[in-house]
Amino acid sequence: MAWSRAIVIPILKPGKNPEDPSSYRPIALTSCLCKTLERMINARLIHVLEEKKLLTEFQSGFRYGRSTMDNILNLETAIRDAFITKKHLVSIFFDMEKAYDRAWRHGILNDLHNMGFRAARSVVQQLDTVHHQGLRLASGAFRTSPVQSLYVLTGEPCLKLRRERFSLKYYFKIKQNPCHPSYERVMKPIFGQFYEKKVSFIPSFGHRMRPLLENFNLKNIDILPKHDEPPPWRSRNVLTIDDFHKLPKSTTAPSVYIQEFYYHRQKFERYGTVFTDGSKFGDHVGSAVVFSHIVISRTLNKHCSVFTSEIFAIYTALRAIRLLSQKKWIIYTDSQSSIEAILNASRQSHPLVLSTVKLYFKLQDRNFDILFCWIPGHVGITGNDEADAAAKAASSNVETFVPFQDIDQVLKQTILIKWQHIWDLELNNKLHSIQPSIAGFQPNNLNRRMSVKLARLRLGHTYFTHKHLLYADPAPSCSSCSTIISVRHILCECPKYRVLRRKYFGKAYPDLRDILGEHYNANVFSFVHDINFIHSI
Ligand SMILES: [Zn+2]
Repeated sequence: MAWSRAIVIPILKPGKNPEDPSSYRPIALTSCLCKTLERMINARLIHVLEEKKLLTEFQSGFRYGRSTMDNILNLETAIRDAFITKKHLVSIFFDMEKAYDRAWRHGILNDLHNMGFRAARSVVQQLDTVHHQGLRLASGAFRTSPVQSLYVLTGEPCLKLRRERFSLKYYFKIKQNPCHPSYERVMKPIFGQFYEKKVSFIPSFGHRMRPLLENFNLKNIDILPKHDEPPPWRSRNVLTIDDFHKLPKSTTAPSVYIQEFYYHRQKFERYGTVFTDGSKFGDHVGSAVVFSHIVISRTLNKHCSVFTSEIFAIYTALRAIRLLSQKKWIIYTDSQSSIEAILNASRQSHPLVLSTVKLYFKLQDRNFDILFCWIPGHVGITGNDEADAAAKAASSNVETFVPFQDIDQVLKQTILIKWQHIWDLELNNKLHSIQPSIAGFQPNNLNRRMSVKLARLRLGHTYFTHKHLLYADPAPSCSSCSTIISVRHILCECPKYRVLRRKYFGKAYPDLRDILGEHYNANVFSFVHDINFIHSI
């Protein structure tokens, strides 16, 4: 077997002379066996390098959970800290592969030197314009429609809120990993007084996050630290029983499950029983472990997910088993996803999954014999019902941690609340008057032409009512009422159309929200057609 023999495929670099051999990028294809071996060696090598911290913390390439963003953040912080203290910052950029391009390097250094980072604000504002243009095109909104309405109509928050969400997510990613190269500078940012005095300078990332964390009430989130995976060479023998999988829950009566559980217990009578359960309801998140004589329950941070509460219960069960003399146990859970996560634990896994797997292996090494078994929930199996009740009840034992995996959902919710506050202030906005909640309107399956017309009617900005703004003409006024014509005037107020309104909406003077609000009235299309307005929308 030729392990090291490779098939080399030359790939022409774009725009290069095909007759010159140096114009080709050679790609070496090795055999499948060789690749597999390489991967195995690589997995082991990486594990040792990471665990013994042999790589410099500043290396981001070829490392799991790291990205160029980490180095950019470090550089940005160093630059801002240098600015604010009136120091020079010298950075040297290497391109090791080939002779570096002089012009490019100069450009970058020049930009940095000329405080190019101050241009950041205007660059960011240019993105807003592009974003708005995109939303207008996607929804077919008329050009004069206000941007706040566009956000709500399309369900897309403004870029500032999105940036806040992603910045905070990145902040928590750093916070969960004290070995992260930016950890110190982001968690304990320096030169705060300088930045406070000079408001024209953009503060470093760590300082920028502080008011956001304060504002969103996320300052004291106790993030669960990242966990190493178990060594790749360790045999991963997680033992499970699938006695209950063969009975589909939709067609099996609870009594059948109870009977089955009874047989199952006879078969495994030498194993002790532990039932685990997690629960999330409103602001209460709880987890519970039920042994035959004791119940251990915990109240978790309200930001934790159901999955976190389930896996935490299993982890708690293992921690309790560790102290017992009985060696044979079956851990019963109604969480299929927890068992699957334990079976498929990898570097990317939830930190509690990794803690659970590591503890499980440690117990195996100490001759414990522990099996995981899925049982259906809420079918009257006593231990499971007890665990369920204990997880739902508030416990005085409180855990404060939140795993990074649950943070994004928290941030998403937080951003939606802030967006709703912004929308609440839009009291003169036409869309706001018919849809006060940002989450109100559901997508419809109208064709493009109709959905554009509906969007324009809802926004209150149509060609007929607003084109005058583009030509600096006076606003169109109604010939019979001599008031300025608006969508509301046409659909709800003008006496001219009261007969037709009665026909289509059941009322001479209906409420606009009933026609165009969260649940629009499909007759609106016939109405605007009959009054000859449809082609002027
Ligand atoms: Zn009128």
